[in-house]
Amino acid sequence: MSISLLNKKALDVLQQTFGYQSYRFKQKEIIESVLSGNDTLALMPTGAGKSLCYQIPAIISSKKTIVISPLISLMDDQVAALNECGVQAVKIHSDLPYEARISSWNNFKSGKVKIIYLSPEKLMSENIINELKTMEVGLFVIDEIHCVSKWGHDFRPDYNKLSELKTLFPKSNIVGFTATADKTTRLDIVENIFNKNVRVFISSLDRPNLSLSINQKTNWKNQLVDFLNIRKMQSGIIYCLSRKKTEEVTSFLINKGFNASAYHAGLDGQVRKNVQNTFMTDQAHIVVATIAFGMGIDKPDIRFVIHLNLPGSVEAYSQEIGRAGRDGKASDTLLIYGLDDLVIQRKITEDSDKESKYKFYDNKRLDYLLSYCETPECRRKVLLSYFDENSDNCNNCDNCLNPPSLIDGTILAQKLLSTIYKTGQFFGQVHIINVLRGSEDKKIIDKGHHNLSVYGIGNDKSKEFWQSFLRQMLAYGHLKINFQKYGAIQITNTGVEVLRNKLKFLYKDIPIKLTKEMVKAPKYLNKDLNTEDTALLKNLKFLRLEIAKKTKPTCFHGFSR
Ligand code: ADP
Ligand code: ZN
Repeated sequence: MSISLLNKKALDVLQQTFGYQSYRFKQKEIIESVLSGNDTLALMPTGAGKSLCYQIPAIISSKKTIVISPLISLMDDQVAALNECGVQAVKIHSDLPYEARISSWNNFKSGKVKIIYLSPEKLMSENIINELKTMEVGLFVIDEIHCVSKWGHDFRPDYNKLSELKTLFPKSNIVGFTATADKTTRLDIVENIFNKNVRVFISSLDRPNLSLSINQKTNWKNQLVDFLNIRKMQSGIIYCLSRKKTEEVTSFLINKGFNASAYHAGLDGQVRKNVQNTFMTDQAHIVVATIAFGMGIDKPDIRFVIHLNLPGSVEAYSQEIGRAGRDGKASDTLLIYGLDDLVIQRKITEDSDKESKYKFYDNKRLDYLLSYCETPECRRKVLLSYFDENSDNCNNCDNCLNPPSLIDGTILAQKLLSTIYKTGQFFGQVHIINVLRGSEDKKIIDKGHHNLSVYGIGNDKSKEFWQSFLRQMLAYGHLKINFQKYGAIQITNTGVEVLRNKLKFLYKDIPIKLTKEMVKAPKYLNKDLNTEDTALLKNLKFLRLEIAKKTKPTCFHGFSR
C-alpha cells in the first residue's frame, strides 16, 4: 500500500475511531514514519498524545503489535480506552488471574486480537520470545523508553534486555516514546535499542500553561498554607521524599481543613486505589505522595503540583510538574527546597548500587537541578535548555514576574572563566575553585597550577560563594558540564564573550552561608565504626596512599581518598 493511502487510512482512524479532528504536535510525522516502516524514537511532553502515535499504525497494520509498558495501571488504562473505542487489545501482567493471561495470549496468538500489552520481563521470557518467533510481529512499542538507559534518571533493570529485540526480530520495527530524556540518555537509547539507525522526533517539551516558582524553605507549613489558601477548590499533588513526610503533611493539612490523602507504596493496595479514585473524580482533592503517584494518571484538571523536597533530577522534576494542567489551562507549580534536601539526594545517590560512573552522572544531574533552583534567569529558559531547547522569557515564572536583585559580577566571572581556561577546561568545580582560592591541595601542586597567574585571584570569596556563583554561570549558559569528559567544566560561546568583556554577567545575591556538608557529597559514612576502627581505617588509607605513591607515581592523585 502506498504511503499516501496509509496516511489517509490513518486520518480516518483518528477521526472515526478516536473521534479527533486533527493531529497534535508531531503526531502526524511520527505516525507517517512508523507507517513507512522506520524505527522511530519520539520525545513528546506529557499529555501530548503519545498513545495514538502507535495505536493508529497498530490498527491499520495487518501484523501484530506488542506494547511494552512499565506499569500495570498504565496497561489497564490503555487497554480499557482502546476497548471503549471498539479496538480489541489484550494485556498480560502479574495482577491478572492465570486463566485471563492464558486467554489473552491465545487470542493474540490466533490473530483474533492484534495488540497486546506486556511488561518488559514478560516479553523477554524465553517462552514468549520463542513463540513470537513463529508469528509475524510488525511493531514493538516501548513506552517510557528512557527506562532503558543507565544514564537516564529512571533506569529499570527489566528494560535492559530490550536491547536484544533488534537482533531477535530483525524484520520487525521498533518505536519508542518518552517525555523525558536528556541528550546523553537519547544517544544511549539510539545506540542500544535501535542500533544507531532510527528516525528521531523531538517535540518541544515546553508547557507554557504551567507557572514555575521556587521558594527557599523557611517554614514549609506557612509556605504551604499560603499557597493552598488561594487555591481552595482545586485538585493538586504534593510530592515528598519519604512516606513519613507524606503522612505528616496529610495530617497537618486535614487539621487545617483541607481535603487531603496520603499515597505511598507502604499503604494497602485497596487504600491506594480508593485514594486514586477519589482523586480522579473529586474536584478539590489533594494527594500528598511519594513519586510512586501520578505516572499514568490521565486527570486533565490537576491545577497544581508542589514539591516539598528537592526532586532527584531535572528529568524527574519536569515529569512530575508535567502532571499538572494536561487540559492546557493555567496551572501552578511550586518547589520549596532547603539545602538539607541536597544532602539527602546526595546520600540517595551515594547509597545506590549503581556503578560509580552512573553515580557521578547522577550527581552532575543534581548540580544542574541546583543551578535551576538558583538561577536569576527565566526558569523556563533554564529548564528547556537542559533538554537542548531555546526559549524566550516566559513571563510565567517567579523570576520573570519578580526579578531578583542582581549584582554586576563580570569581573568575578572573568576570574572564574580565566581559571577554567588556564587549567585547560579539563577539571571539575572542586579543582577550579581550589585554584581560584589558592588552595594547597596536592593535585594543584602536582599539576603545577600554583604557578598560574590565576592562582588565588579569588581568595577574597568563600568556597561556598564560588560554588553558588559557578552554578549561576552554569544556569546562565556561560559554562557547561561535559559529561563525556568526566564532568569537566567548560566555557561556552557566550562565556567567551564575558571573558572578552563583550558581555556583562549579573548574578543573584548569594546571602546563604552554605556549609560544607550541604554542598559536598558525603564521602565516607563510617557510622558503624568505633573509635579504634576509625583510627585503623585512617592508618590503612595512609598506607594505601604511600603504596600508591611508590607504585604509580604519575597517577596517584587519581586516588580520591
Ligand atoms: P501521553 O503523551 O501523556 O501518553 P496520551 O496519549 O495519554 O498522552 O494523550 C493525552 C490525552 O490527549 C488523551 O486524553 C488523548 O485522548 C488526547 N489526545 C491525543 N491525541 C489527540 C488529538 N489529536 N486531538 C485531541 N486529543 C488528543
Ligand atoms: Zn520565565
